[in-house]
Amino acid sequence: MICPFCKVDNDKVVDSRVSGTAIRRRRECQACGRRFTTREYLEIQPLTVIKRSGEKEPFQREKLIRGIMNSCKKRPISPEDIEELATRVENALPVNDNSEVGYDTIGNLVMQELKKLDPVAYVRFASIYREFKEVGEFVDQIKTLDK
Ligand SMILES: [Zn+2]
Repeated sequence: MICPFCKVDNDKVVDSRVSGTAIRRRRECQACGRRFTTREYLEIQPLTVIKRSGEKEPFQREKLIRGIMNSCKKRPISPEDIEELATRVENALPVNDNSEVGYDTIGNLVMQELKKLDPVAYVRFASIYREFKEVGEFVDQIKTLDK
C-alpha cells in the first residue's frame, strides 16, 4: 500500500479489525511513521457456467431450482427442501480463479444431493441429465466429423 503522505510503498499493519463483511486495517508507514487506515470488502464475483458447447452464461440460481423442481414433481419434497438443496450445490461448486464452473459439475452435484433426498427425483433428474449429455456428445461428434 502506497503511503498517502509520503508516497512510499512500505507499510506495516499494526491492527486488524473485522466488522461484518469488512476488515479494517490500521497501517503504519515505515518511511514517515504516519498511520492510515484501509478497508477490505468482500468481493462477490458473479459465477459463470461453461456449457457443454463451450458457451458461457451467468450462473442463475432460479434456473438451477427450476431444473430440480421439474424432477421433484408430485414428490414429498417441499420448496424449502429444494431451496436448501440448491444452496448446498452452490456452496459445493468448485470454482476456479475466473469464477467459472462446468455444467457437468453442477449436474453431478445435483444428482448427488437428490440421491440422498429422494430416489425417484434422483432417477428423473439423472435420466433427463443423461439424455442431455448424450445429445451433447452426439453434437460434439458431428462437430468432429465436420473438421
Ligand atoms: Zn509515509
